[in-house]
This record gives sequence, structure tokens and C-alpha cells, in this order.
Amino acid sequence: MVSPVLLWHRRDLRLQDNAALHEAARYSSQVVPVFIFDRQILERADTAPARVAFLLEALERLQEGYRQLGLTLLWQIGDPLVELQHLAATLGAKAVFWNEDVEPFARQRDSRVRAGLAEAGIQCFSGQDMLLHGPGEVLTQAGDPYSVFTPFWRRWRSLPKRDPYPIPKALQPVPSLQAQPLPSLADLGFVCTQAIPAAGEAAAQALLEDFCDGLRILDYERSRNFPAEEGTSRLSPHLRWGTVGIRQVWQATVAVEAEIRSEEAEASLQTWRQELCWREFYKHVLAHWPHVETSSYRKAFDGLEWENRQDRFQAWCEGQTGYPIVDAAMRQLNETGWMHNRCRMIVASFLTKDLLIDWRWGERYFMQKLVDGDLAANNGGWQWSAGVGTDPKPLRIFNPATQAARYDPEGEYIRRYVPELAGLDTPALLLVGDDQKGSWALQERRACGYPDPIVNHKVQQQEFKRRYQAVQGSC
Ligand code: FAD
Repeated sequence: MVSPVLLWHRRDLRLQDNAALHEAARYSSQVVPVFIFDRQILERADTAPARVAFLLEALERLQEGYRQLGLTLLWQIGDPLVELQHLAATLGAKAVFWNEDVEPFARQRDSRVRAGLAEAGIQCFSGQDMLLHGPGEVLTQAGDPYSVFTPFWRRWRSLPKRDPYPIPKALQPVPSLQAQPLPSLADLGFVCTQAIPAAGEAAAQALLEDFCDGLRILDYERSRNFPAEEGTSRLSPHLRWGTVGIRQVWQATVAVEAEIRSEEAEASLQTWRQELCWREFYKHVLAHWPHVETSSYRKAFDGLEWENRQDRFQAWCEGQTGYPIVDAAMRQLNETGWMHNRCRMIVASFLTKDLLIDWRWGERYFMQKLVDGDLAANNGGWQWSAGVGTDPKPLRIFNPATQAARYDPEGEYIRRYVPELAGLDTPALLLVGDDQKGSWALQERRACGYPDPIVNHKVQQQEFKRRYQAVQGSC
């Protein structure tokens, strides 16, 4: 008689290219998929309603996908160990499969689940799925992890990449199981006011096809920096929740190689692959140096003196700093749960180096809002922006006016998200107005009900440098 096995879905909400599903199906033809809404995660202050809404839609799509295979996706709310033990006992399952995660919380939880299930005589099988190369697979010749991106990238790209896993065939249902309607967002205690993107495997496939098969990827080197353009893939929430497999994404980039006709196209392909590599790099950093979750990678910078003014933080969160490019970006985040990468760098530099606010405040706010919020990428991005992370050239200060003039030269992005300024001429949007040259721009913006700049960039960057160098000097 066939004995069923449990497949515990977490951040792998898909059927295609799923390592744990593939392994579970090799072990038993009766696979019972389950998702557990972990109460500890639901109750965390930085769990974004946007992410939970995306998760729920992805689960609905997954439930539908399983239904088409004749299987039932189960779900529970509670403690994963308790729920898995209970399900395994009810179904007579002797094994549980899952895909691994690198986050400290997940690793601790998984160890506890593994130990608890072992006590009940249930075997656990887990493996790498989220990354093309897991922590421990990309090492220096001396066998150490890389702490700098460029050599990591060189090594990472030279390693052979695995093909996607096929969807297993001929899985048998457990006849007694009935699909339950998923809980609503309100049932889970959330309200989402952001206009978030479509979730699920089909939505991810459509984006991947549009970006790779549609060859937008071959213009990425240029278009990726302009927030008013659709120059990037928008795959981040799907990579966050695993509604697309990373091997499949890589395969789509390989298929594009045949279409390359210029150096720019080649550079674009490589730059996009490099972004996939940044995603993996930050996961490795978190896995190898878990202290980064709460402190600076370079620990001395925990001594950096921040001003942490609550009123300035509030203005930043609300998109009311008086710097149009910063405010447009923060409003994009608040309204849509996503922000363009160029703008993430601008607002993060602004929070830390102009407002002198601890990067962890910004990191937490991003996690509360982002549909793609991911501890490793967000933490890595914030530490990079604050100059306290792995970046070997850490003291970069973005000038918001220069950034706006270069990357939103017609003010299109600013007009989209700061509608009260939409009627002004472009120079009035781009000038900072914190010196005499720009004071006319300031007056025009003021007449639209828009705030004056809350700080002077030149003054603040000097102050930041002084504080930063004080720490450098003490190292
Ligand atoms: P594309 O440009 O199409 O890139 C493809 C994929 O590569 C992305 O979907 C993402 O998975 C990965 N990627 C791209 N750039 C980076 C990067 N710098 N670091 C890590 N992975 C990258 N990304 C997140 O996924 N979650 C976060 O919480 C997050 N927080 C960030 C915070 C800050 C301060 C900064 C500067 C960056 C952050 N990023 C984060 C990285 C990046 O901004 C987003 O991945 C990107 O904007 C997503 O849009 P896209 O899918 O269109 O990206």
C-alpha cells in the first residue's frame, strides 16, 4: 500500500521547477501539499499586508493548479511543528519534504520542526531550491565564503546551472481529502490598501515571457535606470514567493543568447544575470554572517551616531520631504508596494545620509510596505546604501537633484506620483531649491501646496561624512 508524504510549501508556491515536489514524488506517488500560516510570522510588526495579500492570491492559484492534477492543497493556521505532526498522524504520513530557506528565523524553526518530527518517527527531507547555487557552493579557492560581490559574481557565473525540475506525472490523490476555501486577508488580521500586482505561476510566466522572449531584457542596460519606463522585469514578488523557479528564469536567459546582435544586447543580458546574482549574493551573506540581520556587516559602524529625528522620518515615510524624486518614490512604495531599484537607492541614501537616520528604520519601513520584501535583499540593499555593508567602496552619497535630472529628465515619474506638481515645468520639478539658484522653483512648488525641503543636502552630506569618518578613524 502507498503511504502518503507531506510537501510543506513555504516560499515555493508553484508546481513547475520545484525541487521538493520533485523529490517527494520520487519517494511516494501520494504527495499531500500543505501550507501553514505561521502565527509567529503573521504577528510580526514588519509583516506587510501587501505580501500577505500576494501570498493569498498565489495560494489560490496553487490550489487551482493542484486541483487540475487531482490533488488537494491543505492549509492550516498555527505552529508548523504542531500542524505537521497532526497532519502526519491523521494521514499516516511517514515523511515531510520542503525547500530550504536561509533566513535565521526559518533555519531555527526548521531545526525545531525536524527534531520534533523525528521524535514522532517522521523523516524530514529538505534541500536547496531557492537559488541557483546555495550557500557553501560558491567559495574562494581557500574554501571561504566571498564577502565582496565582484569575485562572487565571477565564480558564480562560471558554475554549471541545473535544468528546471519537471512537474511530476501520475501523482495519486488521497481520496478522503477535501480542499477548504482559503482564509481571507481580514481573517488573517490584515487590510491592504496598496494596488499590488497579480500573483501566481501564470502571472510570473507572463512577466518572464514578456521580459525575456519579448527581448526587453536586451535593452536592460539602458532602460533599467529610468523609473518612468517599464525597463525591469517586475519579477521580484514572484522570486520572493517562489511563484517562479530560479532555474526556469535562468533557462529563459539562455534562450535569449541566440538573439544577441550587439554589444549593448550582450551587456544587457549579463547585467540582468548579475541582478540575479546580487539576489544570491545577499542570501549567502545572510547565511554566512547572520549578525547582519540586526547589525552592520562591518560591526564598527554600529557605533555611527545617527540623529534619528522622528519628524523627519515621518516626512520621509509619507513622501513629504520637499525633494520631489524622493517623495515620488516613497509614494510609489506606499501606493503600490513596489519601488524602482534606482529609487530604492535614492531614498535609502537620502534617509541615511541626508536625514541622518539609522538604516534599520528604513529597512523596517520597507519591510512593512514591500510586496517583494525579502530580508536578505532588503538588508543588503540598506547596508549598501548606508555604507555599512559589504561594499568595498562604501562612502557613496547620492545627490537627489543630480539623480532626478539624470534618471527622470522629463519629470515623468515625479508627475505620476506627486500629482500636485504635475502642472509645473520640468526645471521646477528637478531643481532642489535649497540654494539661491533654485529658490524660484521652490516658490512655484510652494504655490502647489508642496512642502519646502526639510533639510539642505549640502549641509547634511558634510555632517554625514564627519560622523562616518569618525567611525572609520576609530577602526
Ligand atoms: P530586475 O531589475 O528585473 O531584476 C531581476 C531580479 O533580480 C529581481 O526581481 C530581484 O529578485 C533580483 N535583484 C535585482 N536587483 C537586486 C539587488 N540589488 N539585490 C538583490 N536582488 C536583486 N529586492 C527584493 O527582492 N526585495 C527587497 O526587499 C529589496 N529591498 C531593497 C532595498 C534597497 C534599499 C535596495 C537598494 C534594493 C532592494 N532590493 C530588494 C533590490 C531591487 O531593488 C529589487 O529587487 C528590484 O527593484 C525588483 O524589481 P525587478 O523585479 O523589476 O528587478
